[in-house]
Amino acid sequence: MSYPTHEEICANHKLEPIVVKHSELKRASETSMYRSECPSCKDGVLLVCREQPSLRLAEEDYCIRCGRRFLYSDINEMRNIEGIV
Ligand SMILES: [Zn+2]
Repeated sequence: MSYPTHEEICANHKLEPIVVKHSELKRASETSMYRSECPSCKDGVLLVCREQPSLRLAEEDYCIRCGRRFLYSDINEMRNIEGIV
């Protein structure tokens, strides 16, 4: 598995976010309900960020490997599950 270069990560990060449904992504961990496989590079992981200081789930996320950004179209359902809307 080859890692993207710093330039590739920066280029990916500048692209428009891809709109995805978190519920339809493949979970990357059996112990986390949020961690997903990156649908763009397949080897990276989306962790789901939290907004400060509210700690509610952030709509925008990014892959820790390829830098590609994503928007969760079902963020409100995720927030509802946590009760922090
Ligand atoms: Zn990725």
